[in-house]
Amino acid sequence: MSKNYDVVIVGAGNAALTAAIAAKENGASVLVLEKATKEMRGGNTRFSGGIFRCAYNGIDDLVEVVDDKHLKDQVTSAPYTEDDFTSDIQRTAGGRADEELTETLVSRSYDTVLWMSKLGIPWEFNRAVGTVQTDDKKTVLPFGAAVRTIHEGVGLSQSLFDISERAGVDIVYEIEAKRLTTSEDGTISGVEVRTPDGWEHITSKAVILASGGFQASPEMRTAYLGPDWSLVKVRGTRYNTGEMIRAAMDIGAQPYGEFSGKHATPINAEAPDYGDLALTDKTNRLSYHYGIMINLDGKRFVDEGEDFNTYTYAKFGEQILKQKNAIAFQLFDRKSFDLLEPRYSTSDPIEGDTIDEIAEQLKSKYQLMGFNEEEFMNTVNEYNGAVKEGEFNPTILDGSTTEELALNKTNWARKITDGPFRVYPVTGGITFTFGGVRINTDSKVVDSLDRPIPGLFSTGEMTGGFFYQNYPLGSGLTRGAVFGKLSGENAASFARERSKVQS
Ligand SMILES: Cc1cc2nc3c(=O)[nH]c(=O)nc-3n(C[C@H](O)[C@H](O)[C@H](O)COP(=O)(O)OP(=O)(O)OC[C@H]3O[C@@H](n4cnc5c(N)ncnc54)[C@H](O)[C@@H]3O)c2cc1C
Repeated sequence: MSKNYDVVIVGAGNAALTAAIAAKENGASVLVLEKATKEMRGGNTRFSGGIFRCAYNGIDDLVEVVDDKHLKDQVTSAPYTEDDFTSDIQRTAGGRADEELTETLVSRSYDTVLWMSKLGIPWEFNRAVGTVQTDDKKTVLPFGAAVRTIHEGVGLSQSLFDISERAGVDIVYEIEAKRLTTSEDGTISGVEVRTPDGWEHITSKAVILASGGFQASPEMRTAYLGPDWSLVKVRGTRYNTGEMIRAAMDIGAQPYGEFSGKHATPINAEAPDYGDLALTDKTNRLSYHYGIMINLDGKRFVDEGEDFNTYTYAKFGEQILKQKNAIAFQLFDRKSFDLLEPRYSTSDPIEGDTIDEIAEQLKSKYQLMGFNEEEFMNTVNEYNGAVKEGEFNPTILDGSTTEELALNKTNWARKITDGPFRVYPVTGGITFTFGGVRINTDSKVVDSLDRPIPGLFSTGEMTGGFFYQNYPLGSGLTRGAVFGKLSGENAASFARERSKVQS
């Protein structure tokens, strides 16, 4: 490995490789350091659903991005404006999201997706996640999350590696970045890494940190998220363990955002402890808004119909983790079977012709965990008795609600009375963490006085200030790519200026 580059990038996910490609396009020599083996490379990006949220003026903007243009007449999507995107980020964040960073993310979202499409990454309409079929057999694309990369995260990751390699980016594996080095004036001078053969120092004119959050570190989870998070299942890569967030803070980077915040979703209770590349995001169980969720005590604990699942899934994982044994049961009747996302087919439900049969089976399987059969039956009966039948319409917030329950279901409430019935046991799985280093709108890492640390850039999951408490589906990849492209361009320009001064 050569040990002197214009730009060194830590990580090899979407954020890192968009940065690498942009830096290369802008004339820099680029080295990508990947902690994982070549077989396990690609971070959370590879496990992802490949969905990118972006602003668009209508279906024609989407057609310009996707390869399956011929399906245009089989899908519908209202325009999703920059105001819509901004409002989705702010309302899910309780108004706390950094306004300037959000403005940059939103205003560059479509152009960045188009840039990636022009680079040769194949895209398609998102006809699988958060979608609904209309009576005339059209797919209503989820508002704002309407496109995804073909073969999802696996396809995205492969394309990004291929494009990077073709562009001449050097990529090395099993190299763990540990520390950042600076010259006396505080400018970045390189990265200290652990290799299979020991420690090395790689020098560079600029460094881009894109090594993800700390969700795969039980130690940092416990420290920042709390003891309840030490044993949680991790939905994606095992390599995002937060050491470069700490390394950046060690040289003065400002910690930013909600350090106790996290993205956690309802997943199959039997999912493995870490992401499995054979399943990627298929362990998600996100159609709860068509049924109800009941815990081991036999109680409901969230308003399943509070909003479209694309706006509640990232916080409901945590609500499940708060239940006894971190388990809940998603209950559906026959009316909802066709509405369940296709990925429900990756596990076998508990099935029964009557609710009694379902309760019996749950008792035999979960008795030792304290399953309360009687309360389960009461809850289902009370729920059914409280449903005020409206016009069920999955394409809108239909206002079909229950009445006079302590916890009402406020949309898509239908009686669960038409057997057969199915139960999917779920737990919460952590996806990524919300706290990280602070960047400015040029993707420069800033210190506690908001001054850029010369030569240090960051993007993706390791940056804070974007998401709080919750998250609109598909925003993580867009955030990584928007600031990936920006950091690559700006790091290349910084390196160029530094070369001029040095020569
Ligand atoms: C199952 C699942 C489904 C998802 N679906 C979507 C979706 O459809 N849409 C969406 O927007 N988001 C989705 N997300 C979230 C999304 O995947 C992430 O927000 C995004 O991929 C983060 O990209 P990143 O490049 O910042 O980090 P990552 O892709 O995680 O990359 C981090 C990289 O850093 C490397 N690394 C870590 N530490 C070091 C170190 N010390 N030295 C060297 N390398 C290091 C890792 O090995 C990895 O290569 C999903 C996540 C999961 C887990």
